[in-house]
Amino acid sequence: MPPSSELVFRRTIKHIVGNPLSYPKTPNELAKVKITKITFIPACHIGYSLHEDFSTRVGVIHSIHIDKGQILISGIDGKLIDKHLLKLVVPSSLSEEWLPPKDDVSPYNFKIGYLEAKKIGIKYIQELHTRTVSYYGANRVRYTKTCVPRVSNIFIKSLIQVYLPILTVNCEIVSRRHQLTMCGNKHEIEVLESNAGVCEICGKRLSRKRLLCNSCGKVVCAPSFLGHSYFCEICGKTICKECTYWTRKYLLFKKKVCENCADKLEAKGKKVKKYI
Ligand SMILES: [Zn+2]
Ligand SMILES: [Zn+2]
Ligand SMILES: [Zn+2]
Repeated sequence: MPPSSELVFRRTIKHIVGNPLSYPKTPNELAKVKITKITFIPACHIGYSLHEDFSTRVGVIHSIHIDKGQILISGIDGKLIDKHLLKLVVPSSLSEEWLPPKDDVSPYNFKIGYLEAKKIGIKYIQELHTRTVSYYGANRVRYTKTCVPRVSNIFIKSLIQVYLPILTVNCEIVSRRHQLTMCGNKHEIEVLESNAGVCEICGKRLSRKRLLCNSCGKVVCAPSFLGHSYFCEICGKTICKECTYWTRKYLLFKKKVCENCADKLEAKGKKVKKYI
């Protein structure tokens, strides 16, 4: 089952803006989040166990003991699906009765049946647990050996066909638009694709300290010496460099202000300029 729009809203804002300096409005008040598309991707969830000891004349050189292994493969082309999505396939999120509520939902059909999925799955499991190990022989010479699990040791415990909800989400923050692709269930969301995480002015990866411009909606680096974001020196609004105006303060200093405050100063006859 797909996540609720509430969860999508929270996750989207957390992903795009994080926990920024934002004044007078909070990110929640500025952002508009909309789920534009939900696609249900067929996948096979395979649960397995694998136990094997690999030995040579010097003894056991490698062992595998897995009781609750799991993989996901695409139900369309049989490709292995990113293991991060595995945690989304949990009993509490599986429902046999549930049907998509609207027509903006597009499900695909399975092209791979149970038997084929099992066959492909075993091949992946074998590859996944193949290791090349090195060991010393009785003659103190170092050897390497590639340990490939035997198919007969791979036990498929369960094979379930599931639909993974893939969501396309639009997020508008003032004048900025973001698009994200995510996959999620009722409780958790994994972001698959987005352009977020970098400063919208300098392009550098954002640290935890960031600022949400309340004039244009850009997420940028937090204010610093020689930085590119500020607090309006009149009303305290958080603004990026591109939305900043300035007026003379004493003889040498520039007073940085937001657009609203700049308008008010101009109305009073003060000289105000755009900062960049
Ligand atoms: Zn920056
Ligand atoms: Zn701005
Ligand atoms: Zn202001």
